[in-house]
Amino acid sequence: MTEIKSLTLSELKTALSGQPGFRAGQVYTWLHRGVRSFEEMTDLPKALRQSLADGFLLTAPQVLRRQESKLDGTVKYLWQLHDGNCVETVLMKYHHGNTVCISSEVGCPMGCAFCASTIGGLVRRLSPGEMLDEVLFTQLDSGQPISNIVLMGIGEPLDNYDNVCRFLELVNSGEGMNVGMRHISLSTCGIVPRILELAESRLQLTLSVSLHAPDDETRSRIMPVNRRWPVDELLEACRVYYAKTNRRISFEYAMIRELNDSPETARLLLKKLKGLPAHVNLIPLNNVAESPLKPSDRASVLRFQRILEEQGVACTVRRTLGSDIDASCGQLRRKYQNTR
Ligand code: SAH
Repeated sequence: MTEIKSLTLSELKTALSGQPGFRAGQVYTWLHRGVRSFEEMTDLPKALRQSLADGFLLTAPQVLRRQESKLDGTVKYLWQLHDGNCVETVLMKYHHGNTVCISSEVGCPMGCAFCASTIGGLVRRLSPGEMLDEVLFTQLDSGQPISNIVLMGIGEPLDNYDNVCRFLELVNSGEGMNVGMRHISLSTCGIVPRILELAESRLQLTLSVSLHAPDDETRSRIMPVNRRWPVDELLEACRVYYAKTNRRISFEYAMIRELNDSPETARLLLKKLKGLPAHVNLIPLNNVAESPLKPSDRASVLRFQRILEEQGVACTVRRTLGSDIDASCGQLRRKYQNTR
C-alpha cells in the first residue's frame, strides 16, 4: 500500500485528481501536522476519509522508550514502526534552537568498527514519510518546536539516497514543516558517487563526513567503506562538493585511544585537508559495549585540536550530550533488542 506521507504535494494532487482542487492541500497540511488517523482530518467529507484509509497507509510510530537526560535535557526516543522494527531519534536543546538527530535506516550495512548501529547489519531502509515522522512526532511528543535536523542517527543516509532526498523535499516544503536547508546536516561515512550526486543537486544543507582517520591503513581498519573509496578519493569528492555548493564541509573525527589521536596523525590530517574549507568536529569516542576501542584521554583530544587550530583549521570538541541515557547512535535499540 502507498505510504501517503511519502508523497509530495504535487503527487498528492495527482492521487486526488477526482476531488476539488483544494483537497490535496488540506490533506497535506493534516499529514504534516502529525495526525495519527484519517479520522482526525475533520474538515474532509467522511467518504473521502474512508477512501483514503482504504487506499493508503498512514504511518505514525509509537513511543517504545523515552529517556530524558538529567544532565542537559536531551531526550531520546525509541520508536516502533508499523512493521514492528525500531529506530531512535534524539532531541537536543541548543542555544540556537532544538535539533533532532534522526535515523535513516533500521540498522546499517556499513560495518564501522566503533558503531553500535551496524551490529546486526541492515534490516531495511526508512521511507521518506518515516523519516518525516521522526521529526513530526518528536516535536509533538516533546512540545518543543524543531528548528534543526541532523541525519546522524542509525543508518547511512547516502545508502538510502532517493528516500533521503525526498524526505528533504518534504520537510523543507513551505506547506509542511518548512525547515530551511541551511538548518539541515547530513552525515555520511563516505559513499563517493552519492556525494558527487548530492553536489550536483546544489542543496544548501551541511555535508558532514565521518573521516575518523587521514590515512588508508587506519581508516580501512575501522571503516570498511574506505576499502572501496579511499581517503584521497573521498577528499577529492569533498572538494568537488565544495566547488559546486560553496558549502564548507564538516568532518567528524571520533578520537580513539592510540589509534588516531597522535600529533603525527593531526599533522597528516592538516596536510590532507589543505585548501579545503573545513570544520573538524572531534568527538570523544563513545564506549560501545561490544567494541574493544577506547576513547582518547582529554589531553590528547586538546593537543590534537590545538595542532589543527594553529594552522587555521576550525576545530571544535563536541560536547557530549545525553551521556547518561545512551544517546549515541544505535545504543538504545541494541539494549532493547538484547532485553527482549
Ligand atoms: N552513517 C552516517 C551517519 C550516522 S553516524 C555516518 O557514518 O556519518 C553519526 C556519527 O557518529 C558518525 O560520524 C559516526 O562515525 C559516529 N559514531 C558512531 N559510533 C560512534 C561512537 N561509538 N563514538 C563516537 N562517534 C561514533
